[in-house]
Amino acid sequence: MKCKGFLTRLFIYDMIFGFPIRERREEMRRIIAALLTVAILFSAAFVLAEDGEEELLVEEEILLDEAEPEQATAEKEVREENVHTSVWPEPSDITPAYRSTEAPEEAHENCFWCTPMNLDDEEAVWVMLTAPITVVQANEKAKPLDDQMKQTVLYEEPDKKSQKIGMITGQSQGVHVLETRDDGWSKVETYSTSFHDSKVKNWNGFVTGYIETEKLMTVEVNQNYGIIIDKLTQQLYLFKDGHLETTLMVSTGLYNRRQPYNETRSGEYLLIYYQKGDLPDGTMHCYNPIRFNAGDYLHEVPCVVPAGGKRKDADYKLYEPKLGTRASHGCIRVQRGLNADGYNMNTLFGLLKNREDQRYPKMVIWEDYQGRQVKIPEDDTPLYYNPRGGSYYHALANCNDVKSTYLPLTAFTYGELEEKPYSKLKRCPYCQPLRRKTFYEELNQKHLESSPGEVMSYHKKK
Ligand SMILES: [Zn+2]
Ligand SMILES: [Zn+2]
Repeated sequence: MKCKGFLTRLFIYDMIFGFPIRERREEMRRIIAALLTVAILFSAAFVLAEDGEEELLVEEEILLDEAEPEQATAEKEVREENVHTSVWPEPSDITPAYRSTEAPEEAHENCFWCTPMNLDDEEAVWVMLTAPITVVQANEKAKPLDDQMKQTVLYEEPDKKSQKIGMITGQSQGVHVLETRDDGWSKVETYSTSFHDSKVKNWNGFVTGYIETEKLMTVEVNQNYGIIIDKLTQQLYLFKDGHLETTLMVSTGLYNRRQPYNETRSGEYLLIYYQKGDLPDGTMHCYNPIRFNAGDYLHEVPCVVPAGGKRKDADYKLYEPKLGTRASHGCIRVQRGLNADGYNMNTLFGLLKNREDQRYPKMVIWEDYQGRQVKIPEDDTPLYYNPRGGSYYHALANCNDVKSTYLPLTAFTYGELEEKPYSKLKRCPYCQPLRRKTFYEELNQKHLESSPGEVMSYHKKK
């Protein structure tokens, strides 16, 4: 694996057409087709010049009117046939440093930034999750756990007087080292992890800049566990001893105009601090919190516990149905329902906190860049329901949220979900079964056109 330089090529297109540099290949084809059409019309103009311009304009309108529906149909067919063929580069080739305009001095075999965001290559993912990470010392006087609450800035030039372009959290946030210079500065890239009170307001922007080399520390990480959070699938992937152990549903941050800092910052992190109990906010409680980035935690999906109540009185109905979609203020909410492998946030917390290898586990957060695509679930995936009046469909035959008298539940398949009587069933918020096919199709369409994790630029200007 190497850091690829294809962006330089695309940059030329960007200069000419003012398009975002990650546009699809199909888009390019359309532009070229459009240019050819213009060229043909132009030559036609010379032929028609004798008869006057008006005629040409009429001709042009007709041509464009006819061309468009045909093009749209052709494009739709391509998508339906295989959605991947219209995407460039291949969704499985996109790396976290996809936006980088330059490669590091030496090619990286195993770094997070240069490894494609692709679960199919389990071995490459494991190598990446267990590779050392380069973090920063934000404040040299602070103890590690305090330093994790502090941040340092990234400069545009190797000069403290130059513009500050991004924020980096101490101890737990990783950076991609591109160049170590003789003058005491290093060139790095990372996602700016600004919070509402940070010096630089750059919300999850991918930045390349300079930091004092003495602030950088490369540390070894845990060799038994590693975690991936994918903003695209809104799932957590726990890797254990070289393989994908289990998958849990999450909710990452959902930003809005007023709170652009809600977007969960992507990148590479260490799971450093395991807090006892929970993070309470009034009657809202977040159990099993693990801090990974200043104010951002990995924790159980929030619940409401009435004042004076106990954990057994917790009500999850406000937040649990949102799992699998963006919903938080930046934290990563993880399912509380046990999955088929016997995992939930509670077991995950215990496993990581009581780990044998004391080095901190690595957690990476994949950005859902434009062009990435989810796999549509297989039709033969089993689902379950209660034929005696149940209103939910479930992922598990023995869903813990169903009264034991109805267990085990009756099986049917994902392919039958749109047929009667299954089409009326709602999704069990506890055991987190798959969503309906239209959900994934809409998700893929959205990612052909945009990067939902990118905080819109007007937030930076204000
Ligand atoms: Zn690299
Ligand atoms: Zn269920």
